[in-house]
Amino acid sequence: FLRERNILSVRSFMLLFLSCIFNLGFPGTPSSLKTLPLDGHLCFDKIHHAARDFGNRYQFLPLAVLHPKSVSDVATTIKHIWQMGPSSELTVAARGHAHSLQGQAQAHRGVVINMESFSGMKMQVYIGKHPYVDVYGGELWINILHESLKYGLAPKSWTDYLHLTVGGTLSNAGISGQAFRHGPQISNVHQLEVVTGKGEVVNCSEKQNADLFYGVLGGLGQFGIITRARISLEPAPKMEIENLLSQLSYISSTLFVSEVSYVEFLDRVHVSEIKLRSKGLWEVPHPWLNLLVPRSKIHNFAEEVFGNILRDTSNGPVLVYPVNKSKWNNRTSVVLPDEDIFYLVAFLSSAVPSSSGTDGLEHILIQNKRILDFCEAAHLGVKQYLPHYTTQKEWRAHFGPRWEVFVQRKSAYDPLAILSPGHQIFQKAI
Ligand code: FAD
Repeated sequence: FLRERNILSVRSFMLLFLSCIFNLGFPGTPSSLKTLPLDGHLCFDKIHHAARDFGNRYQFLPLAVLHPKSVSDVATTIKHIWQMGPSSELTVAARGHAHSLQGQAQAHRGVVINMESFSGMKMQVYIGKHPYVDVYGGELWINILHESLKYGLAPKSWTDYLHLTVGGTLSNAGISGQAFRHGPQISNVHQLEVVTGKGEVVNCSEKQNADLFYGVLGGLGQFGIITRARISLEPAPKMEIENLLSQLSYISSTLFVSEVSYVEFLDRVHVSEIKLRSKGLWEVPHPWLNLLVPRSKIHNFAEEVFGNILRDTSNGPVLVYPVNKSKWNNRTSVVLPDEDIFYLVAFLSSAVPSSSGTDGLEHILIQNKRILDFCEAAHLGVKQYLPHYTTQKEWRAHFGPRWEVFVQRKSAYDPLAILSPGHQIFQKAI
């Protein structure tokens, strides 16, 4: 019996030795990732880009970057990490175009999934009475625009900037000038394919797995990775400015008209991007602040914020979009103010690196804090859009009465808290 045991332990030792030499790793160790059967590949070096985002302030180096070539690559990787159980500290973040502001698409010592590896996979446009397009989660909105325009169609709701991925904006909401009429992008999706935190591939819609469908929309990547989406289309509008203006009441001296094509209008921020890049002003810190302000409080807000806090500085555009809550579905995960009409007020600041003046990062962060402190002290009922908090206490306050549902969904779809660690809402129990 003892001889048998010795032989076994010699065998185990040899196996361990060989696996160390070939760096295969046992199940339960990060290096076991290297043995996964994938159509794409995992990269363990050249991963520094995955520790950066548009905000340019937070950098968390992952262990590896997955470049998936199929949905099954995403599912295999997540299932493997799920099966490691709580003994492994590995987490997973989907990285769309990494236009997050505070590391939300990063995973410290985890696996970042480069969703853009899917980009270029064929989109399917369906024409008919209710046209739609089927796309991959890592597809850029600009590509969807070009593809659907070939059929005279276009999505109904946009963001101001189109070099963002479907999965990235649907994890937030996707708000721009069309949201008051059509709702945000999350109100214009029929169906999703999602890989949950257990590595299961699930189709969901209003009628099928509805809880997951609504949870994922605006869900900050917490419940699953969107690998496909079916997006509603409409006939692409032509220029109709006079017709639109005739329905509005406005002060005519404030009218500013710039005649551009539909694509030029939608892709307008990209023009600024090219200019800013050429001057080295795109890859600077972006301490943006996006707030949803209830209509009844917008005057108090404007008086203090524009009349006092921001009086003598201008570090970037400030956008204000009025939005109808009736165009939002209250089963999604997005947190909104408690009023029928509210405003998205977006302070899109760029900081000049190493400046200590009013255009420096520190100054802008102090201003942002003053705005947030004022909103809280004056009980304006403001909610952050693209929210950023660092403690669970703050997240609870952000979600308010919706916190319980959010937690229930987390325990149903990602019980080990593997997904989207960059938001710092849940921590993987190890
Ligand atoms: P990423 O930054 O890569 O990811 C964002 C979050 O979503 C992360 O938590 C990530 O893990 C998760 N995620 C990414 N892909 C998936 C997926 N497939 N499945 C599940 N989770 C995923 N927003 C608006 O609403 N309206 C605007 O007009 C607008 N304009 C913008 C203009 C600029 C110049 C920039 C930089 C941002 C703008 N945004 C706007 C914000 C933008 O919608 C968000 O930052 C969005 O997250 C960016 O998309 P992304 O593809 O880069 O996502």
